[in-house]
Amino acid sequence: PRPFDPALARRDFPILHQNVNGKPLIWLDNAATTQKPQAVIDRLVHFYAYENSNIHRAAHTLAARATDAYEAAREKVRRFLNAPSAKDIIFVRGATEGLNLLAQAYGRQHVGPGDEIVVTHLEHHANIVPWQQLATEKGARLRVVPVDDSGQIRLDAFQRLLGPKTKIVSITQVSNALGTVTPAREMVAIARRYGAATIVDGAQAVSHMPVDVQVLDADFYVFSGHKVFGPTGIGAVYGRAGVLETMQPWQGGGNMIADVTFERTVFQDAPERFEAGTGNIADAVGLGAALDYLAGIGMHNVAAHEHALIEYGTEALLSIPGLRLIGTAREKAGVLSFVLDGCATADVGKALASEGIAVRAGHHCAQPILRRFGVEATVRPSFALYNTFEDIDALVDVLRRLQSGRGHGLSR
Ligand code: PMP
Repeated sequence: PRPFDPALARRDFPILHQNVNGKPLIWLDNAATTQKPQAVIDRLVHFYAYENSNIHRAAHTLAARATDAYEAAREKVRRFLNAPSAKDIIFVRGATEGLNLLAQAYGRQHVGPGDEIVVTHLEHHANIVPWQQLATEKGARLRVVPVDDSGQIRLDAFQRLLGPKTKIVSITQVSNALGTVTPAREMVAIARRYGAATIVDGAQAVSHMPVDVQVLDADFYVFSGHKVFGPTGIGAVYGRAGVLETMQPWQGGGNMIADVTFERTVFQDAPERFEAGTGNIADAVGLGAALDYLAGIGMHNVAAHEHALIEYGTEALLSIPGLRLIGTAREKAGVLSFVLDGCATADVGKALASEGIAVRAGHHCAQPILRRFGVEATVRPSFALYNTFEDIDALVDVLRRLQSGRGHGLSR
């Protein structure tokens, strides 16, 4: 990979080169969604200009092109996650659909009355609600791994929660609300000793660090394309081959069948049996382009740069009087989350927006973990490979002025 320079990478993202509210845009809302490099935009245009077709390979030339592009994207996802086979990769709309697929196609088969599903206090609503729904349907119980005051998982308490009733352990790799990097690999290893199926929600991890599903060793891994510089509406589920083979489809329709009569249907194998209907072909291809782009940079380079940003940002924020950082674990990625004494989070968000700085101010679809820290909302600047130390300086500058009561008529 070429030497990594965030200032050079910035040039690859056309959206970053505009003024918003009269100020140069500073995009610090990457945990909500990331921006797209020109290579992804070009790939989408190329697909619709030259390749668009449904993916029935044998039908005609464009069908073959579209099928090849779609399957090449699946292979790129496989490589990105270091999965053993492209057949282990299921395309879905995103992490939310991936987790719902797992609750339906795996959970409904394996969870019964009195069984337990374990999640952590850090989870995004997408990794809480589907399990709650399943637990209600099956008379099972949702159990929650607590965190310590830094926002890190309490491994001792995790161990104590596990037992013969534990059927599923579904945990995030990185918290979208606090940025905590959980000891996912260790947790998976422990959970597997109890015979539980293991799921890792990688939605907030994939853009920040190299991921290797064989090292993690979970049965399933899910992520969203739009959080890793790809299009919205596309994401992937990795599943361990031996487990995928035992799972029944969760949605029925075209593409997922081998043979249909009115009496019965024979399903395709994985991954097709989990991809009913016409999929999001173009955006899968666009995701493939995003993963190519990242491969060109090297995820280790991204991780090193972002580590420096987190350290710099943490120190800079902590120097602001009256600022309370929520989530102080040593292992963090991508996200800083805070409240400012005497300022409503929504107002902080608005003040930053008026200065061209985009952050999220709210509950980040992770209400339980914010409430664990006694707040309903935080301000959340979140980073990606194209962010710079100057972006953080600009953020801190506005916050300082806001805090010192000179919040009106800010300019930079
Ligand atoms: N899990 C985590 C940790 C997330 O941050 C998100 C998105 N904020 C999701 C799941 C859900 O992803 P999506 O909305 O793309 O389906």
